[in-house]
Amino acid sequence: MLSATVLIVEDESEIADVLEAYLRREGFRTERAADGERALELHRVVKPDLLLLDIMLPKKDGLEVLRKVRAEGNTPVILLTARAEDIDKLIGLELGADDYVVKPFSPREVVARVKAVLRRARPEEKIDILRVGNLELDIRAVEVKAKQTRLDLTLTEYRLLEALMRAVGRAFTRTELLEIALPDSEALERVVDAHLKNLRHKLSQAGVGDMLETVRGIGYRLRLEP
Ligand code: CA
Repeated sequence: MLSATVLIVEDESEIADVLEAYLRREGFRTERAADGERALELHRVVKPDLLLLDIMLPKKDGLEVLRKVRAEGNTPVILLTARAEDIDKLIGLELGADDYVVKPFSPREVVARVKAVLRRARPEEKIDILRVGNLELDIRAVEVKAKQTRLDLTLTEYRLLEALMRAVGRAFTRTELLEIALPDSEALERVVDAHLKNLRHKLSQAGVGDMLETVRGIGYRLRLEP
């Protein structure tokens, strides 16, 4: 199975920690949201392959998130519910969840459900693509397009951009970026600046240079175009 991204939407951080650890061990990529609004934001920018969606959440509850996710597309959703009696209601509402798990659950069981739902939802030949604003990164082709134009990136630039695209809005330190881009090298942090400078130049030529933001005193982040 291709490496898939699972968005864990859960306000209890201990439960989210456990799910994240089990999913990562199985080779999944994970993103986390602790409230409904953040979940919708990440759903739009990260385009996860599946949502693990708790029902009782701050800001927007899981059912409202599910309705909005369904209005935007077919991302598979597995609901996490604390109460078995919710289930009849959920099924009756026909909200379009692909499966549900009742708490307390075994994380192993949740991972098994995730795999089963993904197998149903996505045929093997589906191309794995990340999209952020006008940027499109094709993981299988190791290729990035900005506004439909292919960018001529070095592998290091590609790795940096992939990491930034996977966590839009998050500020990465130079140390983190160095570890991502050149894991086995003894390079200095200013090497990261040089690569990011080249990357920004290429993004600028494609008209999306302002997506790559320097975070003073920290490092860099990717943001959606203003
Ligand atoms: Ca909750």
